[in-house]
Amino acid sequence: MKTLGLIGGMSWESTQTYYQLLNTQVKQRLGGLNSAKLVLYSVNFAEIEKLQREGEWKQAAKILSRAALSLQTAGAEAIVICTNTMHKVAEDIEQVISIPLLHIADATAKALKQDNIDKVALLGTAFTMEQDFYKQRLIDRAISVIVPDEQQRKQIHKIIYDELCQGKILPESRQIYLDIIADLQSRGAQGVILGCTEIGLLVNSEHTIVPLFDTTLIHASFAVEWSLT
Ligand code: GLU
Repeated sequence: MKTLGLIGGMSWESTQTYYQLLNTQVKQRLGGLNSAKLVLYSVNFAEIEKLQREGEWKQAAKILSRAALSLQTAGAEAIVICTNTMHKVAEDIEQVISIPLLHIADATAKALKQDNIDKVALLGTAFTMEQDFYKQRLIDRAISVIVPDEQQRKQIHKIIYDELCQGKILPESRQIYLDIIADLQSRGAQGVILGCTEIGLLVNSEHTIVPLFDTTLIHASFAVEWSLT
């Protein structure tokens, strides 16, 4: 088994899901007392969120690059960034490390292809929904991506930062997400990417018949697969 290097804390609410999934899946695959070999570097999300809001992505890239390098020095054999949004600086991180970075959008594209999805909706932070760093990797694999309208994007973004990243799971916010998911399906989406690692805390396949692609689950499974092969 290879050792994974996790950059977490963005937010820690979803990092704990990663930790649980990685260990559960290794145990399922290898049995007994087997558990995931990993090193975790958990940042202070308040610092990162401020840099995001102010558009200081280079500064954020420096912090995460340093984290990645520390993980490599500590014995990690691949880097897993436990958030979709901060993959905006994935290329900056790749420049300072000599181990692979297991990209969340590549893992998601693979899952979509496996299910023959070629038109998908993307939910995530405004950065993820509106910029190209995530979407383009899907488009490059011939998957077309639709996003919610402006007002819906604002609601989705606000719920992520004001509630989900702070551990607040509210039924009224779940209903907002479910209404948006239904709308996206009526716009032709064959499935919906939960492209923020906290959304799975609010919405899952028990709440809707629309196929959901939970990036936390997909990314963790991808990392386990890499670690065990
Ligand atoms: N964890 C979230 C994501 O997957 C949002 C928090 C962040 O901005 O990193 O995008």
